[in-house]
Amino acid sequence: MTNPSTPAANGTTGKRACVVGAGPVGALSALYLAKDGWDVDVYELRGDLRMPGNKSLNFTKSINLALSERGISGMRAIDETLLKEVLAETIPMYGREVHNTKLPASVVEKRKEAGYQYWTEGEKQEYDCHGRFIRSADRHRLNEQLLERIAKEPNVRLHFNQGLKKMDLDKKVAWFEYSAKDAGENPEVTRVEFDFLLGCDGAHSTVRRLLQKYVRMDYEQTYIDTLWCELEIYPNEVTGDFLIHPNYLHIWPKQTFMFIAIPSPDKTFTCTLFMPQSRFDEIGDSPDGLIAFFERHFPAVIPLIGRDRLIKDYFKNPKLPLISVKCSPYHYKDSCVILGDAAHAMVPFYGQGMNAGFEDVRILFEHIHAHSDLGTALSRYSEARKPNAHSINDLAMTNYVEMRANVTSSIYKARKQVEEF
Ligand code: FAD
Repeated sequence: MTNPSTPAANGTTGKRACVVGAGPVGALSALYLAKDGWDVDVYELRGDLRMPGNKSLNFTKSINLALSERGISGMRAIDETLLKEVLAETIPMYGREVHNTKLPASVVEKRKEAGYQYWTEGEKQEYDCHGRFIRSADRHRLNEQLLERIAKEPNVRLHFNQGLKKMDLDKKVAWFEYSAKDAGENPEVTRVEFDFLLGCDGAHSTVRRLLQKYVRMDYEQTYIDTLWCELEIYPNEVTGDFLIHPNYLHIWPKQTFMFIAIPSPDKTFTCTLFMPQSRFDEIGDSPDGLIAFFERHFPAVIPLIGRDRLIKDYFKNPKLPLISVKCSPYHYKDSCVILGDAAHAMVPFYGQGMNAGFEDVRILFEHIHAHSDLGTALSRYSEARKPNAHSINDLAMTNYVEMRANVTSSIYKARKQVEEF
């Protein structure tokens, strides 16, 4: 069925698109396809995250993401109303607040008793001299809003607990296996015929792996020697307000590792401790080791999180790896393309992984609309996208040094003064 509001692009009406992965990039792709008149089936390995108790990620309830113009323009180009709804639930971040990692916990306690609004005050470094900002968005909520939106399209069907197992890109057939907990030993397999398959199945993409059998794909994968552990700062118990300034991305830089905090609409902060494996080993598995480590490196963070909660969350939450993937090409004939993390997973330090994925979708459809033949459009897309995707992966890698070290250096300050001048 065609969306009556938009003419179908290039005779796509009635043609079958299969989207693998209902993460942010898969969901946005489905919306673009639906508006172009494709008959869209979305297959997602996990359960429906709109249902209570279902997580959007297997390792955490959610993460806060920096949403920037790159990602915003991907939504603006297809649905301004959706964009407004998404932005309404985000928090502007005008810059970073770089905290003194030596600020003693006792000072924070005194400020707490004296009723200070923000207990730790850092150096504010604005992102833009014109006051422009990036936004903090909850990944789970953003994904949910996108799914709610595509569920309204009459030509989209969502299939959860369905993991891609096999595909034949010449015959245009894919096989999905039922993956819910009750799947048993011989899970049901569904055979799906398609005209166009979009692989939006994340950093460990099955589509990308299977695509390598069809194209001579250059492929590079790097794990950096940094793990991340999620923690949380809760609101002020008395006032219910944010404990640190809500409109900044907070960094406690330690040269070779760092602690960051990003605001959430519920007045909490999602925090991430990024450190080499050796630092986690140094802490070991005793609460005393953890508190000693924080007293040495991040004393002011202890009263922000609370000693008991810090111990509970640190030992409960996993310490997760960070992967960077570069590959090319991204497509096979007029049959398949990979987008988002499936095409270019990157380390999170530039805050651009999802943003770049949304940009992929917008640019892919610009190519589809510009060419009458899908194979040519995918080929031009692959060529055009490669240098940009590879560059943003590199920028993400170098921005780790910027965040954990350069933000404190006199070189940074001098450069900033020159820019301001
Ligand atoms: P994913 O979000 O990984 O979604 C892929 C989906 O495919 C999942 O739902 C998965 O279940 C499904 N799937 C997997 N395999 C299969 C299969 N075989 N069959 C069917 N479905 C399958 N990005 C930003 O833009 N800004 C930030 O500030 C930012 N911060 C980050 C902080 C951290 C700590 C991390 C880890 C990442 C951060 N990112 C950030 C990156 C961002 O999370 C990703 O780039 C984004 O989630 C990618 O979206 P995606 O839809 O391509 O993939």
